[in-house]
Amino acid sequence: MSSSSSPSLKPQASPATWLGVMGGGQLGRMFVHAAQAMGYKVMVLEPAADCPAGHAADRLLCADYTNPTALQDMAQQCVAVTTEFENVPAQSLASLADQVVVAPSARCVSVAQDRLVEKKFFLDCASASGVQPAPYHAIHTQADIDALPDDLFPGILKTVRMGYDGKGQVRVTNREAVRTALNELQGVACVLEKMLPLAYEISVLTARGADGQAVVYPIAENVHRDGILFTTTVPAPSVSAECVKQAQHAALTIIRQLDYVGVLCIEFFVLKDGSLVVNEMAPRPHNSGHYTMDACITSQFAQQVRAMTNLPLGDVRQHSPAVMLNILGDVWFAGDSDQAIEPAWEKILALPGANLHLYGKDEPRRARKMGHITFVAPTLEQAQAHVKTACDLLGIAS
Ligand code: ATP
Ligand code: MG
Repeated sequence: MSSSSSPSLKPQASPATWLGVMGGGQLGRMFVHAAQAMGYKVMVLEPAADCPAGHAADRLLCADYTNPTALQDMAQQCVAVTTEFENVPAQSLASLADQVVVAPSARCVSVAQDRLVEKKFFLDCASASGVQPAPYHAIHTQADIDALPDDLFPGILKTVRMGYDGKGQVRVTNREAVRTALNELQGVACVLEKMLPLAYEISVLTARGADGQAVVYPIAENVHRDGILFTTTVPAPSVSAECVKQAQHAALTIIRQLDYVGVLCIEFFVLKDGSLVVNEMAPRPHNSGHYTMDACITSQFAQQVRAMTNLPLGDVRQHSPAVMLNILGDVWFAGDSDQAIEPAWEKILALPGANLHLYGKDEPRRARKMGHITFVAPTLEQAQAHVKTACDLLGIAS
């Protein structure tokens, strides 16, 4: 951290207080909006000139995440820096941390960047958190494949690093399939995870301040399609009161044991027998937490601002039942056509409780996250009915 002559982390108009964010995607954009709403100016570091957060930022540093001049610039102008995606080089966060507050820390981000380190961490805190990860085995060499226990099959082979939206994953039923898959993945470090009988998937958004104060949001129930989040429903309709307690306790234990500062999202599986398994964590606001923008007192992005600037954390109470529907580029295209047509947003916005968020991406592409809609309503059933109507209007099978 900088010396005692460093500027206050609190919002200030003149001279302005600046925050920095590593990454220029939609999460960065929504962070920028939340920070600006609280009076901060925001600088974004991102190699792509045309990026969702760059369009909203007060300043875009268009450079590689490891560029020393850009990092120096960010450290000098900002009082605190955060990240919007987990694959930012941890070394860049570590070097920024010599001069400015960085939350979450390089150490915490690096745990989430490596599935093996992450699973080991989950195992280490399992006795306190009450949840285990899925049974797994590290795979670096052919000998590791020979040594695989039989009961890990059928399983899912996952790359240790850089996986997201189900990418870098292959389902395998035997050792031969693991060999083939590993060759296809060009021999990168992998982990084989036992395929578990999932009943549904949930995520728990939690946040912690530098003073150790921690909060946990309501449980979100997630449905994925083709590896990408499709809907998030809160309150989670399938989850028992006991499971809610267990998952929130696990999330708070994990964030404390990590000594984490900022917003952290933890994904869990609920198995058919009702038991809870921890899957992975994202060291940042998360797609499944977008509902907080419209349905909670404090959005996950405003919470990130509060946590990184050492302000009191905000109220996580949910004031309305909500369903979030992700909007992919597919809805711009009818059938197999490659001609993009803007969806009829006016029809969506005519639905009660509809909140449209578009990320400012010029080019719609199939499977590209273009925006989301959160429906809030007096009852969850009403919100679910509006999502169904929206899907019909947008040509999404519901
Ligand atoms: P993202 O970063 O988008 O959340 P990811 O690519 O990091 O995803 P995971 O979340 O680990 O990957 O897995 C993607 C999906 O695959 C899960 O949401 C779940 O539906 C399924 N899956 C993953 N691991 C298992 C498992 N052990 N047993 C059964 N299903 C699994
Ligand atoms: Mg996941």
